[in-house]
Amino acid sequence: MARATYECPACGRTPVADRPLWRCECGSHLNLARGRGIGRREIIREEASLWRYRAALALESDPRGFLGEGWTPLVTGEWEGAQVRFKLESQMPTGSFKDRGSAVMFAHLLEVGVERVHEDSSGNAGASIATYAALSRIPCRIYVPAGAARAKLVQIAAAGAEIRAISGSRQAVSEAALAATGESFYASHNWQPHFIEGTKTLAYELWEQLGFRPPDNILVPTGYGSNILGLDRGFGELERAGEVARRPRLFAVQAENCAAFALPWQARAETLLPFSPKPTIADGIACERPVRAAEVLRALRRSRGRLVTVAENAILPALVALGRQGLFVEPTAATAAAALTRLFCAGTIGRDELTVVVLTGSGLKAAERVGALFETGER
Ligand SMILES: [Zn+2]
Repeated sequence: MARATYECPACGRTPVADRPLWRCECGSHLNLARGRGIGRREIIREEASLWRYRAALALESDPRGFLGEGWTPLVTGEWEGAQVRFKLESQMPTGSFKDRGSAVMFAHLLEVGVERVHEDSSGNAGASIATYAALSRIPCRIYVPAGAARAKLVQIAAAGAEIRAISGSRQAVSEAALAATGESFYASHNWQPHFIEGTKTLAYELWEQLGFRPPDNILVPTGYGSNILGLDRGFGELERAGEVARRPRLFAVQAENCAAFALPWQARAETLLPFSPKPTIADGIACERPVRAAEVLRALRRSRGRLVTVAENAILPALVALGRQGLFVEPTAATAAAALTRLFCAGTIGRDELTVVVLTGSGLKAAERVGALFETGER
């Protein structure tokens, strides 16, 4: 396989991806150069994981895979009386979509000889990074906020990662992780381009599972936007490879209480604008400063989709309605279904269109929290 190169969106440098790098010399994040995509005949059909698409991944070796990550079910369900498809990313090894990114990122980190890693997160990413570090036999430390929910730390601890609690804001946790970059490699799911190389396999899977055609619409809960970027990259590659004639519309869903992309979307800006975040039960997408803001906004516009926000009081009813279909998801994932209600009502999405709702995380991750909401009668 060809040696991959990075591209810096700020200064234009193009370093080769043959050494551990988490950002450009100029301080900007890096992106991987365009991939060549995949043809349907190159898929390894007997491989029931994302590694069926290994021919299209920016890796030098032929990775063996880890825990069967990817190839998650795409099921037919119902929403507001319309037939929709639910993509169960909640059925990944660690219970969230993050495993796509983590698996490909660690395959790359093993190739370039990283000896120890750290990351900042108290949620799904922390659990996923800790797990794939363990599988890669790379020592791992996760920086978490001092007040992080115990339930979220248990999965990280179970994978054997060291947990370092930091007092202060979420930003203080990120700064502590940045300060540790001299001691170990910053394996940040928000910065590492190979994480997005992993999430692009979501596009490939939807295309293959729908009989080698793209859906009309895809709704995705969005914090930093790694699934939006992965879908944009994946469908862009399939389009250039002549495998799809058009791209699906991408709808990035955020909680109204913490929607970093809402103002720039409305203002047709390419950079983030100041806003006042409030707490939300969709904590997995409560993100104030996404790293690749311009790329996410451009991906939405390129797809002719949009940014959608959902009211706080619409999230739990959506979670309950999904539960009645056997789909127990965390509040963050329920935002995508809540957004579909809005888009049906507005006429943005037609009920006869082929629409995919990406359910990003399992309800088992947030069972205590959801239980508390049920008990206080907020449903
Ligand atoms: Zn640069």
